[in-house]
Amino acid sequence: MRLANITWPKAQKYFKENDMVLLGIGSIECHGRHMPLGTDTLIPDKLLELIEKKSDVLIAPTLPYGACESLKPYPGTIDLGSELLYQLLYRVVENLYDHGARKIMILNGHGGNIKTIERVGMEFEKKGAIVVMLNWWLMTWDMNPAWKGGHGGAEETAGVMGVDPSLIDYDELTDEPLKFKDLTDEIKTTHFRNVEYKGVTVEVIRTTPNVTDNGWIGPDHPTKATVEWGNEMLSTCADYIVDFMEEFKKVDLQKALHNNQFGY
Ligand SMILES: [Zn+2]
Repeated sequence: MRLANITWPKAQKYFKENDMVLLGIGSIECHGRHMPLGTDTLIPDKLLELIEKKSDVLIAPTLPYGACESLKPYPGTIDLGSELLYQLLYRVVENLYDHGARKIMILNGHGGNIKTIERVGMEFEKKGAIVVMLNWWLMTWDMNPAWKGGHGGAEETAGVMGVDPSLIDYDELTDEPLKFKDLTDEIKTTHFRNVEYKGVTVEVIRTTPNVTDNGWIGPDHPTKATVEWGNEMLSTCADYIVDFMEEFKKVDLQKALHNNQFGY
């Protein structure tokens, strides 16, 4: 059931009987030359479509934008910045809370949103609600370790194939290995922020075009992705979220939030 599709009396009835709501959040940002800018929004939206068929939890409209400062220079990327994202997410969650939501499930498609979701979650714990952060691409690693991947790599490429294979630009999906820009002969770039020197990882804060040109980071090479992988991963993940939400409905908030030595 979609919040955007129901009337206010139906919403009133829902919140009288239920305290759980599911909200997607994504990002519009570079995902390598082969994948759409909306990857982190398209995948959660597809998961929501699958979840809606099996769950009665109310689904609020997805927030399509996120915080993605390091990817901002890539054409088409839209970065809300952490402060604005916090204000936006806080306000949306606050409104849902005012209507009666206490178990707020946030289906997230983008790593850069994590800190903001955590911040909002801490604020609403004080008000007697629980925010659950469902980072789909991390959860799937536990569902099948073979699905483990990074930004713009095989896992996300398979995810987009599971949404719609025609969203991939196959001309740009080449065997070319990922080329990182090292800082010196000895300080080797290994990830978004990570460099390695004498076997130790150090974080150097740089925007991604200074790290690699293509914009995917992996380490899983996107050419390994298949449509079958994408379909299986998305349906497994959606089914898991449906099950998890059913179990989470049983959580006693009073007990879960005040069951500590400080009575906080
Ligand atoms: Zn992504």
